[in-house]
This record gives sequence, C-alpha cells and structure tokens, in this order.
Amino acid sequence: MRKSLIAVAIGAALTVAACSDKDAAQSPATTEVQAEQTQTAAAAGEFNQSNPFYAESTLPFHAPDFTKIKFEHYEPAILAGMEEHSKEIEAIASNPEPATFENTIVAMEKSGALLSRVGAVFGNVAGSAGNDDTRALQVTMAPKYAAHSDNISLNADLFARVKAVYENRDQHEGEALRLIEDTYKGFVRAGAELNEDEKARIREINSELSSLTTEFRNNLMTLVDENLVVVDDKAKLAGLSESHIAQLAKAAEAKDMAGKYVISVTNTTRQSILASLENRELREQIWKASALRGSGNTATDNRPLVKQMAQLRAEKAQLLGYDNWGAYVLEQSMAAKPEAAQQMLRDLVPAVVSNVEAEMAEIAKVIEAEGGDFEVKPWDWAYYAEKVRAEKYALDSNEVKQYFEFNRAVEDGVFYAMNQLFGITFEERNDIPTYADDVVVYEVKDVDGESLGLFYGDWFNRDGKRGGAWMSSFVSQSQLLDNKPVILNNMNITKAPEGEPTLLSFDEVSTMFHEMGHALHGMFSDVMYPSLAGTSVSRDYVEFPSTFQEDWTLNPKVIANMAKHYETGEQIPQELLDKVMAAKNFNMGYDTLEYIAAALLDLEYHTLSVEEAASIEDVNTFEQAALTRNGVAVEAVPPRYRSNYFAHVFAGGYSAGYYAYMWSEVLAADAFKYVQENGGLTLENGQAFREAILSKGNSKDPMQQYIDFRGQKPTVDALLERRGLTTPKID
Ligand SMILES: [Zn+2]
Repeated sequence: MRKSLIAVAIGAALTVAACSDKDAAQSPATTEVQAEQTQTAAAAGEFNQSNPFYAESTLPFHAPDFTKIKFEHYEPAILAGMEEHSKEIEAIASNPEPATFENTIVAMEKSGALLSRVGAVFGNVAGSAGNDDTRALQVTMAPKYAAHSDNISLNADLFARVKAVYENRDQHEGEALRLIEDTYKGFVRAGAELNEDEKARIREINSELSSLTTEFRNNLMTLVDENLVVVDDKAKLAGLSESHIAQLAKAAEAKDMAGKYVISVTNTTRQSILASLENRELREQIWKASALRGSGNTATDNRPLVKQMAQLRAEKAQLLGYDNWGAYVLEQSMAAKPEAAQQMLRDLVPAVVSNVEAEMAEIAKVIEAEGGDFEVKPWDWAYYAEKVRAEKYALDSNEVKQYFEFNRAVEDGVFYAMNQLFGITFEERNDIPTYADDVVVYEVKDVDGESLGLFYGDWFNRDGKRGGAWMSSFVSQSQLLDNKPVILNNMNITKAPEGEPTLLSFDEVSTMFHEMGHALHGMFSDVMYPSLAGTSVSRDYVEFPSTFQEDWTLNPKVIANMAKHYETGEQIPQELLDKVMAAKNFNMGYDTLEYIAAALLDLEYHTLSVEEAASIEDVNTFEQAALTRNGVAVEAVPPRYRSNYFAHVFAGGYSAGYYAYMWSEVLAADAFKYVQENGGLTLENGQAFREAILSKGNSKDPMQQYIDFRGQKPTVDALLERRGLTTPKID
C-alpha cells in the first residue's frame, strides 16, 4: 500500500519500506498462521520512564538504544503510542480555531511521535531478527493498528478541517500544497465524501474484499496440496541431482507416502524443476499441476473469487467516482492512468515477441538435433533452454565468486561507487548498539564532511530473518521534526565459516547496489514533512532509484576497483565478465514476455466497468481473450501468473499494480543510459540525480522530477537494450 499520511502517522515502519521483489507477494502472510498464538502474548505492562521508548533516544541521530530495548517494552509502548496519537488527533479535530494548514495538516504531521518511534524499531526487529514472540505480537497488534487507522480516516470532524484547508489550498505552493492535496485525497479515497448509504456499502465491499482476499490466499496453500505430483518410480526423475531426489523422497515421507517421491508446485507458472527433468510426460504433468491450479481441476476453485473481486473492485471504484479500479489505484502513481501503464507494456511487445521467437528457434534446433519431433510446449521450454545455455553461455559461478569477496564488494564496490558519484563517505560507528552482532553501523558523511545520517548494513542471513532483500528505516528525514535519516539495508547473504572469506555471486553484488539505491533515496531526502520523505513515493517510482544504482555494478571503473581475486588480488578477466553479461541476458525474451503478459492481464481485470465485470462468464476464457487482445498469447510462454493463482493481484496489495516493476525499470534504464552518454560516473551526474530525484521524496510530482533530471519523458528503448532485447539473436 502506498505510504499515505495516515499510514506514516501510525508508524508505517511496521510495514517494511521500499523493495519487494516481484514474487514477494507469494510469501504467506505471517498473520493468520500465528493467530492461535496470540493468547500467549505477554500482557501489556505499565508504560513509564523505565520504558526506553518513553522518550526520544538520546543516542546520535536518535538511533534506537538496543542496550536497553527488550521485547517486553514493545507492547506497552505501542498501546500508549496509539492512545497518545488518538488524543493528539482528537485535539486537532476539536480545535475551536478555524482550520489552517499549521493547526491541522502540520499538526497531523507532528502527531504520533511515540507510535512512530516504537513502530519503526519493532517492525525492523521483527523482520530482521524475529521470533515467536514478535510474530505473536504482530498478530495481536494488526487489528489494533487497523482500527486506529480507521478512527483517523473516518473522523468526520478531522476531515471537515482538512477539507477547509484544501479549499483554500491556492494560498500554498510547492511541498505544502502537495501535502495538502495528498492528505485530502487520502480521506476522499477512503470514502470521506460519500453519503451514509454509500459509506455503508464501501464498508461492506471492503469487508467482502478482505474475506475474499484471505480465502484466495488460503486456497493457494490448499491448492499446493491438491496438486501434488506423486512419482512411484525413481527412474522417472532422471536429470535431477541425488540430493534433489532425496528431498522429494523426504517430502513423500512427510505426507505418509514413504518410498515415493512428491513434487509440490511453487508460486509462479514456471516450475524450476522443469529445467532439469528429462521425462517429458512428467514435465507435462507438473506443468499442468501448476498452470491449472485453482481453475476447477481440483476441489478448490478460485475462479468465482477472481470474478467477485473484479466485480467488487469495479463497484467500489464507481462509488468513489472513478471509471474503474485501475483509475482509482493509479491516480496517485506516476503512470496516473491505467492506459499509460498499458501503453508502456504494449510498446515492449513487438521487440519482446520477436526475441521470444528467436529463442524458440534455438530451442527447436536442440529438439531436432536430439531427434525430437514436436513443437516446444511450455513444459519443454526451461529444459531445452538450459541446454542452449550450457552450450552457448556456460558460466562457472564459482569462478565468478572468487572475484567478489564480501568486504571488497561493500567497501571497494558499493561505497566506492557512491563516493565517485556523490562524494559521500561511510565511517564505521562502533559505539552505536545494534539488534544483532553482525549488523554494522556507518555514519554517512556528505561531500563537504557534513553528517547525513546513519546507515545500518544487515547483509547476512540469520534465524528469524525474513527472506529477500529490502531497505527500511528507524528514523525518516524531516526538517519539520529536525530528524536526519537512520536507514537500514537487509540482505540474506550466507556468511562463510569463521576465518574464511565470504564470496558473493554477481547477483548478490548487484542486489547490494540495488538496496544502496533505496538507502540513498532515504539518506538524501531533503524535505520538510515526514510523510513526503525518501521512499514514500508511488510503487511505480520507488524501484527507479534502486534499479538505476544497480547498473554501476558493471561500470569499468567500479569493476577495476572491486573485482579482484580474493587470494591473488588479480583483476577479473574481461572474458569472464563478458560471460557474466551474456548469462545475465539469456532467456530474457521469455522472462520479459511472461512478466508483461501477467501485468497486462492484471490491468485487463481492473479496467472493467461495473457492467463489464458483471459480464465475465468464465475466468479462463476472459484470460485467454485478454492475452490475445494484447498480442501476448504465446502458447509456449504463458503468463508468469495466471488469474487463479495471481497472488499479487487477488491475495495481496498489487491489484492494477503489477506493471510497476517494469515501469520503474524503464525509468532506471532510460536515466542510466542518459548518464552514460553524459560522462558516466561523475560527481556532476551524481549531484544532478540527487538534486532532481533523490532529495525530493514525494514532495514533487514524480514525472516532473524525472523530466527535471532527464529533460524529457522516458521511452522504452533503453530498457530493451538493458535486457538485451534490441535485436533478436538469430544465428
Ligand atoms: Zn528494490
């Protein structure tokens, strides 16, 4: 969900900021699973001066004092924080003075300090070093947070004041004007302007949508069980490694099927096991288990849920005055309208499809060479693509790793590149306590030596840390609150045993650059109001600065400084680097098309009017027609998610928003290419990027920020180059 003013005010750090990878929505929500345990959560203790959240931390930059914070401090501080915040909001709403920007909007920005303080620390610790206690507390607190948020957004007196300020908004400009509009829209979008009947219907729809979403998500888990593929004969598993086969045997044992082998489908349409499985019939069986799940092939059927959700969303959008759900969702995004997102995706289709055809031709050659007499089917693609890869793009990932030692990647890679681009330096601060031993804290100094804020590098995996990589914060930048940013990066790198060097894959190094891109979006934030700071931008914009920084990984100067053999100190050979590049873009036609197809499908569901949504008869037919209409119905390359297991859209908060990853990448590629054509890794380029983009947060319209930097709107050309899709590789 977009970080609205209200969300910030109630401690948005509980939900992690920027950076979720595009399969993240699949991870089952921690909440329901743990619901049973809530009873065991410690009863709230008293909240007084002995609680470290009672007052603002006195450590530098208000860094949390982990020498004092214990688990039992969170719950009483969160509850007291909500109470304090409610009182502050009530005081604003019932202020006898006429509503002004200062006494209403700015007062709201200042409210909820305690709740933000504890929420940020708790949210981060629960994500990076969680345990049963933190999970149980999250479950107990989730409905309380939701109710607290509703109490603010449905407060009619408060809205009346916000509206009064909004109606006089022409007295303001710049950031203040944007904050007024943003705050007002937040209320209106929640239904504040509707009459009582309409409000009642919105509440009904919200509650139905919430139940349907939960049901869809739970069904996804049931569907995995209903679509297990059971293999009796080990010989059918030829192509898999012995350890993989052992895993499948173990999975069978766990299901009381000892002696057999059980294969479970995973989130996307494509299944990684298909890349190595030789038996074509078994491949087909597994692929069908994946692609048909939820479509009526087993007892659990998600088709009615998809239909109902599309219909309810269309109705809600209409009640709120929008043409369709996409128009409602995208109003506050950079794309602004679903048509713009559709156009961007459709612009990519011709080049992507012609690359897919070239890839398919290479696969056909392998099939033919092996004496096969069939056309490539979706269950064949990964298997034969793997053979093409092994033959033409073979890359020894262990050889590559020897040139990317962890400390060097951090200091001589990421920190070095950021120094060359922005002039900033990272100085370790051993005096700042952390929540886990291997977290390293740095003070970030600006080009003139001034302090910018703190950066916590939490790069290694540990028990209780959620998967993936992300950026978040303990403190958001704000001139109003006189706060400098305190930012975290999290990754899940496996640390080498004591005394041995940790060697990274190329992907891990580039993820480190990516996360630093988010971190600097937070670190360079230079705005007045906390709810407009740093990464609190729309979803289709937030991955732009991070993807942009990712591409420095292969900059020749950075490579020369960073990529040295961990033992000999020798430079990485150019030949090896070329292979890394080629491997990176391998199969990109397929990867891009499956994504675009899913993103377009999402937008097709969410650009329907109420009447159109009501006329969907069969979800599978609708899906096929939608893909055909968009020119992306390629049998061998099905959408990354089909309707009945598209969790982002029907079980998560990404409805009408799956396009956002590509939108951000279009910006990143276009901006990066522009920088390369204008000097590359220089302080001038860094300064310009920082000034127009990184310092602005959400204080200015994102397209305007982009044009300020680039001088024009982005086109998709550079993205096609970035993905190696400009000319189909036929030989
Ligand atoms: Zn990201």
